[in-house]
Amino acid sequence: MSIQVRDLRKTFGHFKALDDVSLTFHSGELVALLGPSGCGKTTLLRIIAGLEYPDSGAVLFSGEDATFTHVRERGVGFVFQHYALFRHMTVFDNVAFGLTVRPRKQRPSREEIAKRVHRLLELVQLDWLADRYPDQLSGGQRQRIALARALAVEPRVLLLDEPFGALDARVRKDLRGWLRRLHDELHITSIFVTHDQEEAMEVADRIVLINQGRVEQVGTPQEIYNAPASPFVYGFIGDANRLSGHAAGGWAELAGLRVPAPEFGQSEPRPVTGYIRPHDIQLQAGDKGEGVAVRVESVAQVGAALRVGVRIPNGDTALQVELPHHGGHWPFQVGEPVRALPCAARVFARDGAH
Ligand code: ATP
Repeated sequence: MSIQVRDLRKTFGHFKALDDVSLTFHSGELVALLGPSGCGKTTLLRIIAGLEYPDSGAVLFSGEDATFTHVRERGVGFVFQHYALFRHMTVFDNVAFGLTVRPRKQRPSREEIAKRVHRLLELVQLDWLADRYPDQLSGGQRQRIALARALAVEPRVLLLDEPFGALDARVRKDLRGWLRRLHDELHITSIFVTHDQEEAMEVADRIVLINQGRVEQVGTPQEIYNAPASPFVYGFIGDANRLSGHAAGGWAELAGLRVPAPEFGQSEPRPVTGYIRPHDIQLQAGDKGEGVAVRVESVAQVGAALRVGVRIPNGDTALQVELPHHGGHWPFQVGEPVRALPCAARVFARDGAH
């Protein structure tokens, strides 16, 4: 089922939690709502769910107005960060719950419920835990049971609010891959909230990046990473170095670096800021030759990369550089003069000093 939201606005007192949000979620896709804390992600999810109503604007389910449809009539399933499973019920009864409370006429038979619950428990690969109680499960297992429970009523839409937020890094990583595979199997239109850009990049078909109640950019993870629409997006997705400078005549001069900037064709120089990712800068030993002369300030091995902090001596510009490095001697030492060669085509120049 597709979902559209149109011109949504929501205020709490004088605070604008959502400011003119319009989006389309296509049938069967997995979309991440991503943004910093307090940007309005949960509010948007709650409005789609019917747990909250907007001040103005509309929510459409398959083209039909559902803005004020009661939450129970929307056919949505939820998983929250702290989804309280019923502690006094077994895993089996928790998953069966949504079916057993249906009015008698819509309630499947006892055998049908048992079959469906076991199928769901197999789907989340926890069939062997059917007789346990929630207190006897790990955090990751609990979230998978919560998901099985949400799926039991065959929702048309699945809404997940920071589903793995409370789990440790290792378990989170496992569950991300697992959620992606599950989605590929079921194809239920799913929207999940996260403030973790890595999680969004890894799991989602498309990302909606929200900042201060407004949509900053919508796109596939690749589009958002490679063509950020604004400095905010650039800084939020991955690490960014900033370089101050000026631009005119189709070129930008940024901390001693000259890069093409066709959008700045005017003759009068204008202040600009350039953004470049740490892995788009190379370092070469020695202080002579191409590139910008810099001094090494720090070196650290982070996973399979070397993180090198450098500073341009005559300015006050510090840069982070990331180089592939799988072990062995570090090629650069603190205090050493080297040259930084940013990949000019990867510099993203924007109006204004920052
Ligand atoms: P987080 O990642 O921290 O959960 P979020 O992006 O999900 O943040 P929301 O929960 O949507 O953010 O909240 C957006 C803003 O609206 C916040 O500043 C929050 O304090 C405010 N807000 C949300 N719900 C209410 C409420 N019921 N009453 C007053 N203010 C609220």
